[in-house]
Amino acid sequence: MMKRKPTPISVATWNFPKATLKAGEMLYSGATALDAVEEGVKIEEANLKNTTVGKGGAPDREGNVTLDACIMAPNGDAGAVVYLKNNTHAVSVARKVMEETPHVMLAGEGADQFAQQQGFMKEELFTESSEKAYREWLKNKEYKPLINIENHDTIGMLCLDEKGDIAGACTSSGLSYKMNGRVGDSPIIGSGLFLDNEIGGAVATGMGEAIMKSVGSFLIVELMRQGKSPQEACETAVKRIIKQNPNYKDFQVAFLALNKNGDIGSYCIHEGYSYVEYRDNKNTNIPSKSYL
Ligand code: ASP
Repeated sequence: MMKRKPTPISVATWNFPKATLKAGEMLYSGATALDAVEEGVKIEEANLKNTTVGKGGAPDREGNVTLDACIMAPNGDAGAVVYLKNNTHAVSVARKVMEETPHVMLAGEGADQFAQQQGFMKEELFTESSEKAYREWLKNKEYKPLINIENHDTIGMLCLDEKGDIAGACTSSGLSYKMNGRVGDSPIIGSGLFLDNEIGGAVATGMGEAIMKSVGSFLIVELMRQGKSPQEACETAVKRIIKQNPNYKDFQVAFLALNKNGDIGSYCIHEGYSYVEYRDNKNTNIPSKSYL
């Protein structure tokens, strides 16, 4: 019997249609899931209006813009960078870590040094408008992660290519006005992103501390392995976080999952989170189901 050719899909957290369109068009032109996912999230890393990814990201409370990102290939290889200060495209540096080093993760100065050795140009990530917003913030120095806006716009993306392979990436400047040195879930394999090419993948956004404590993306892939649909798996992971955190109403967590059949699931704590799915030339923003 002839095996049906998989329908390529790109899907990403929040409302970033340009990112899923870029990845989707690449997939429909025959690109691999790995190339498409990298190029897709790079759109948001370069978007100066997005204050929680790449250049233009909000700084920590001491004025440092620091980026966290990871990428995973269908063969299970992974690369990540944390506290990257001088390069917009943290995902591309993460891919170089995966492909050019024997390691999975590089941090801080070492990550920046490696990026430059790999030919990435040193860049200033603090923009005029994020500096202005930071100066405003300094007036009260109030640290309050907002539920759906400003502090949460991390892009986590999953791509399924025409061969049926899955790749994923997650990239963020982390929580706005975080403590200097704080690293979130986004670059942590298993937390911000996990995939198994036999099963599917998952990505996360929202309060990184809660996501890390539940190793949420890994949990979702394992639940799918046990037979749950992507939707059921995302719901179980969010409910576990709710159980672990009595203050769950004070923060947002959202998961997005894709399995090998192209089924998508998404679930979050608070209403207001959505994702974009590109499939068959259609790029659609879909509101996620939520617990509250
Ligand atoms: N998950 C990210 C972090 O905690 C933040 C976000 O999704 O906006 O660093």
